[in-house]
Amino acid sequence: MRYDVVIIGAGPAGIFAAAELAARGKKILIADKGKLIRERLCPIAGGQVKSCANCASCAVVSGWGGAGAASDGKLTLTTGFGGNLEEYIGRDALLSMIGRVDDAFVRFGADPHSYEAGAETAHETIRRGAQVGLRVLPARIRHIGTDASRMVLNSMYEDLVSRCDIRMNAPVADILIRNGAAAGIRFEDGSEAESGCVLAAPGREGAPWLERLIGTLSLPIASMPVDIGVRVEVPDSVCEALTREFYEVKCLYNTPTFDDRCRTFCMNPSGFVVHEYNQAHHLVTVNGHSLKNKKSSNTNFAILVTKNFTQPFNNPIGYATHIAKLANMLAGGSLLVQRLADLKGGRRSTRSRIGRGMIEPTAPAEPGDLSLVLPHRYVTDVVEFLDALNRIMPGVSHGDTLLYGVEIKLYSLRLELNGDLSVPSIGNLWMAGDGAGVSRGIIQAAASGVVAAQAICGEKPRG
Ligand SMILES: Cc1cc2nc3c(=O)[nH]c(=O)nc-3n(C[C@H](O)[C@H](O)[C@H](O)COP(=O)(O)OP(=O)(O)OC[C@H]3O[C@@H](n4cnc5c(N)ncnc54)[C@H](O)[C@@H]3O)c2cc1C
Repeated sequence: MRYDVVIIGAGPAGIFAAAELAARGKKILIADKGKLIRERLCPIAGGQVKSCANCASCAVVSGWGGAGAASDGKLTLTTGFGGNLEEYIGRDALLSMIGRVDDAFVRFGADPHSYEAGAETAHETIRRGAQVGLRVLPARIRHIGTDASRMVLNSMYEDLVSRCDIRMNAPVADILIRNGAAAGIRFEDGSEAESGCVLAAPGREGAPWLERLIGTLSLPIASMPVDIGVRVEVPDSVCEALTREFYEVKCLYNTPTFDDRCRTFCMNPSGFVVHEYNQAHHLVTVNGHSLKNKKSSNTNFAILVTKNFTQPFNNPIGYATHIAKLANMLAGGSLLVQRLADLKGGRRSTRSRIGRGMIEPTAPAEPGDLSLVLPHRYVTDVVEFLDALNRIMPGVSHGDTLLYGVEIKLYSLRLELNGDLSVPSIGNLWMAGDGAGVSRGIIQAAASGVVAAQAICGEKPRG
């Protein structure tokens, strides 16, 4: 079978690219190593097992809908969030692309209500943040909802299945290259699919695969950012004044001691801290989500510290996973959790110290000492950032605040790509989504898929 385009990955980038290409009558194959959305059930969530069962494909991060399909999908509709697509297509094109992708989510069943703070509240929060060196970016958010998220993704599948070939449970091993151009893919079972173009959108789960591909095809790397940090959990009341108005704000901060760039990420009011399993590296990291129909009394968000490594170092994923593995080692294969007061006081947390505190953890985690896992630089950054955040979220740097470790983002190898997301050194090869470092969230991943699809059809980005 010969296709016009083969798409690797059925996450938001792959799905939105396929919809765009199908609308232009292209013959498409979407291949994903995971399962269909209705078959994606993590045995931990189902209560069958207590720790990772190392399933052949991880239901949490792999399959139709991609990573995060099991959570309730928070769509960030503001340009400064969720990726770097603006650098490729410019702010105006990104804005209209976000509008287009958002419209599609609503058409397929997402909650039509979105959150946006009034100008006066936003101004006041920005002003208070600026007094301590925090750059506050308010966001417009659409919250799809837990059940709705699966339903929306399933409707997208139903819409595409009659117009594309879709192969699930089909891990791709290689991209076929002929005469310096992509000519199809080879699956792990040895079968091949030929195509005029290939669009790789393997997400963060596919980052190790992509890293190998980068080595084999000698693809140029633009930068190697590594995001490492912790997930913070506080009572809802600490963030309420902000989350009621904004649902989520993003704060950027350059820390005084090391001048490192830190940011808040993925804020979940009344949410839950969750385990994220990385199959390729056999490790558990932390993430968070909130559910439309089930609420906790805590808010969680990540603090991420970005470091850009330079040559001769070329293994940012190895660095980040090494740190995550240390946390798993000390926590008996689970996450570590520590009270801020214990971290500052140089002692490990214990169940009784956490039990005496104000916050009941929402995720199973082993009380321990994050300073045995994170380099001193990261610990200092986290503590300084929390002290600054206290200005706009009074109480966030209280001793009882819980820190879970570690949160890492494996979009660490950012590929050098042309403005239309094509790969400079190989013909007919495009990249989109989190895997290539273009996006960091659903909306920009989906938008990058649209950009690549339009470019494949010889068009400029058009929202
Ligand atoms: C628990 C959790 C909650 C999240 N919540 C949110 C949220 O609320 N809002 C938000 O904006 N973002 C959220 N995210 C992030 C969001 O899910 C990602 O940014 C987005 O899904 C990236 O889209 P993508 O298409 O680039 O890749 P992905 O969604 O990761 O999809 C990539 C797909 O490629 C497949 N794949 C990888 N390698 C191969 C291979 N070799 N062969 C075949 N298939 C392969 C994978 O199985 C996967 O299905 C969350 C992530 C997680 C893990």
